[in-house]
Amino acid sequence: MRMVCCKCKSDKALIKYAGYSRMNVRIEGECLKLETVYVPRMYCKTCKRTFAVLKDDEIKNTSYCESFKKEVVNQYRSRADTVEKICMKYQIAITTMYKWVHQMEKEEKSS
Ligand SMILES: [Zn+2]
Repeated sequence: MRMVCCKCKSDKALIKYAGYSRMNVRIEGECLKLETVYVPRMYCKTCKRTFAVLKDDEIKNTSYCESFKKEVVNQYRSRADTVEKICMKYQIAITTMYKWVHQMEKEEKSS
């Protein structure tokens, strides 16, 4: 794979920059599979900008599915752990979790 800067299209002077990992969740039969997706970032010396190596749509493909959201909300409701621990376990932001909780409450009320 040839790497070019997505801003200036230069393929020179690209260096590895801090990336981040995020959790991707797949459902296989009855099983919830967690896998870590590493999203590397590169730094371009030519235009002095950083960019993610993965394209936007690739990152979007790693979004959370409904079953995963339900799983997280169930954990929260059952008070299985503290909010911080649940979010750490599933690698999500606390605000994200609360968003899902509210979403699910809305859906339950409308159905
Ligand atoms: Zn560049």
